[in-house]
Amino acid sequence: MKEVKGKRKNKNLSKKNNVQRKKKIAKIVPSDTISLKQVEGPDLKELELDIKKDILFQPPHKRNFLPIFILLFIVFVIAFIGMHILVPTITINGDNPLEITYQDQYVEQGAKAKFLGKDLTSKVKISGAVDTSKIGTYTVSYFVQESIFNVHQERMVFVVDKKAPSITLKGDFDVNICPNSEFKEIGYEAIDDYDGDLTDKVQIKNKNDEVIYSVKDTSGNATSVVRKIHKIDTTKPTITLKGNQTTYLRLDEVYQEPGYTATDNCSGDLTDKVKVTGSVTSGKEGTYTLVYEVVDDSNNKTTVERKVIVAQGTDPNSGVAKKGIIYLTFDDGPSNVTTGAILDVLKEEGVKATFFVTNNGPDYLIKRIFDEGHTVALHTATHNYATVYQSVDAYFNDLKIVSDRVKRITGQTSKIIRFPGGSSNTISRRYCSGIMSTLVNEVLSRGYRYYDWNIDSQDAEGANKDQIYYNVTSNLSKNKVNMVLMHDIKTATRDAIRNIIRYGKEHGYTFERIDMDTYMVRQRVNN
Ligand code: ZN
Repeated sequence: MKEVKGKRKNKNLSKKNNVQRKKKIAKIVPSDTISLKQVEGPDLKELELDIKKDILFQPPHKRNFLPIFILLFIVFVIAFIGMHILVPTITINGDNPLEITYQDQYVEQGAKAKFLGKDLTSKVKISGAVDTSKIGTYTVSYFVQESIFNVHQERMVFVVDKKAPSITLKGDFDVNICPNSEFKEIGYEAIDDYDGDLTDKVQIKNKNDEVIYSVKDTSGNATSVVRKIHKIDTTKPTITLKGNQTTYLRLDEVYQEPGYTATDNCSGDLTDKVKVTGSVTSGKEGTYTLVYEVVDDSNNKTTVERKVIVAQGTDPNSGVAKKGIIYLTFDDGPSNVTTGAILDVLKEEGVKATFFVTNNGPDYLIKRIFDEGHTVALHTATHNYATVYQSVDAYFNDLKIVSDRVKRITGQTSKIIRFPGGSSNTISRRYCSGIMSTLVNEVLSRGYRYYDWNIDSQDAEGANKDQIYYNVTSNLSKNKVNMVLMHDIKTATRDAIRNIIRYGKEHGYTFERIDMDTYMVRQRVNN
């Protein structure tokens, strides 16, 4: 309260004695310390006290600058509001920032612009490109110019790779391996849409019975795939018989085991573990069966059989001759033109025959031969003498091609063969001296049975249907195995066989197809 009074007094005084006071201040202020002793007289004393208060409580700027400050503030606020009303605005359409997947399309959604309620969208200029084929951060700028204002906004665009790489395993996802072995990697491949081939970056972990393949791309997207390893052996051992699967013994011969081998994918050589059951009684006619059995370490069992036929007058290699039987054999096919018609006749006449096929003709005819109960036998793939009689290996390579074809079509492996030109051919001398002598033994030891003929229809030499009919029927005999050579690629043969069959039936012959027990009609080897 005292201070307020003092102030008011002071204000009144300062109005009255303005000039006088200023003079006093000029005298007193420089000394800075004012004592009451120095000043004398009641007026001066009061004045001095007032001045002192003036100096202490009344800073000159307060009165002089406050209004300016308030004015500036108001101007600033008005200017701030004005700026926002007067400057054009840009509003970006869609997301900002915007994330796009690598190689997706960037669609420019543009921006809206306004100024004092006026739509300036059509005046918006856009610059900046987004390359979605490259991961990165891109900026798209939107500009608008109106009177003196030039404003812009930016959109951030992130091109990202969120797709994980893919891992492709070679081989199966489930792999069986031998119980006593370790898994050997079969192979794998890792591809990323952005980084490309990441095969080198694949990490492999072995865990119990799993192999885990993991890979990350440069954007950190991870993939892993699992291959299951089963330590299990489901593959049966293999028993290979030495000698023929069907063996013939004369009455005066004693059976001698030609031997065998046994191997297994996991257990290795099992020959010592083969058990043979069955026996052959020498001197007593009959068909004896020997059974060879072996079991691997995982209890997979294999059995094979050998037939031993003991018979009077038996050729130990050729088998038992069934006299009076006619074996119709057709070589060199199949043929689109004639084989189907020959099969029709055989079917109508209820007769089974044998076809020594090559790589000729369509598969479906071989299938039909098989399905209709005839024997599909092998004649070589190329039937080219220069090729097949070049060497023993060349012969077996060529034979394998047609053998594989037959296996593929019929599901069965044929072991019945006929040499091109027969075993007595001399043309093979041109390519390899002595090859037939080697081959006839080699095919037998490999389990094949080969068939020549003893009746030649001469169809390969160009006989017409009547000549074919005559060449066959005039050579039939009840006292021999009638092995008839014909070619199902010949139209004359096609036209002759119905009458040949009818002749045979009328004269009491039986027709049979060749099987593994059929007597091997063989010619004398000449090379
Ligand atoms: Zn032929």
